[in-house]
Amino acid sequence: MNEDRRIEPRAVPLGGVRGITVHRTLPHRALPTVGAWCFLDHFGPTAERMTVLPHPHTGLQTVTWPLSGQIRHRDSLGNDVVLRPGELNLMTSGDGVSHSEISADDVSMHGVQLWVALPDSRRGGPADFEHLPDLPRLERDTWSATVMVGDLDGEASPARTYTPLMGAQLDLRSGTANVPVRDDFEHAVLAMDGPLTVDGQELATRELLYLAPGREQVVIATHGASTALLIGGEPYTEPLVMWWNFIGRTHDEVAVARSEWEAGSARFGHVDGHGGQVIPAPPMPGVRLTPRRRREQ
Ligand code: MN
Repeated sequence: MNEDRRIEPRAVPLGGVRGITVHRTLPHRALPTVGAWCFLDHFGPTAERMTVLPHPHTGLQTVTWPLSGQIRHRDSLGNDVVLRPGELNLMTSGDGVSHSEISADDVSMHGVQLWVALPDSRRGGPADFEHLPDLPRLERDTWSATVMVGDLDGEASPARTYTPLMGAQLDLRSGTANVPVRDDFEHAVLAMDGPLTVDGQELATRELLYLAPGREQVVIATHGASTALLIGGEPYTEPLVMWWNFIGRTHDEVAVARSEWEAGSARFGHVDGHGGQVIPAPPMPGVRLTPRRRREQ
């Protein structure tokens, strides 16, 4: 896409009756991806608890990033980790993995969860999980940042990714932040806790602004302390068939993943500690799934 575009969130209930409501800006019919970032849920601040029972993934990485509240992650690889603000959980599904995410304290929950589409070279590979408690920090006059993924202004995250990609939490103080970015990347900014002005464009809380490639910095103005998410990457060209928790390249790949999850296949393993409870897959839609494409309207 060659033009900047503002994306309004839509509210989506997550994790059943005891779950939370999330505010989703990716995918959007006008914007399926930003780089390989293909999914963006903003949750909270809320007193609700996160209760997401075991469920499967294929073809993607999950990125979980709390600003407040702790989340216990358990997965079919045997990991059992409490994730705290400032720390990153990065799970690579490869061909198949399953996990659960449950609130681990009574603090107000606030954060984001994103997915990264895996390239063909990695999407059929083994599952992997990284808990990264110690990420690089940048300190500048009017802003600071924690680098979750990729590189920002010379500081690189150790998180393993498979396409050219970046993601960072920006902590903005009153005034103007000039955040240097790669001019071959497309980017997007999510206003997480207050309105922002990004490259002269007004952005309300929870909105996402898509920023086309070809800029060397992103200029963000605030009227007080504020937090933003900056994501970016090389524009992603592989066709993505996204349905429920699966990413494939064709309808049939996704249908096979669904039936294998429903059958309790070893492909997705087992998450201990839930007494065998899992989230069942919804029925397949009555039409064939097709790849998401960018539309100009
Ligand atoms: Mn998940």
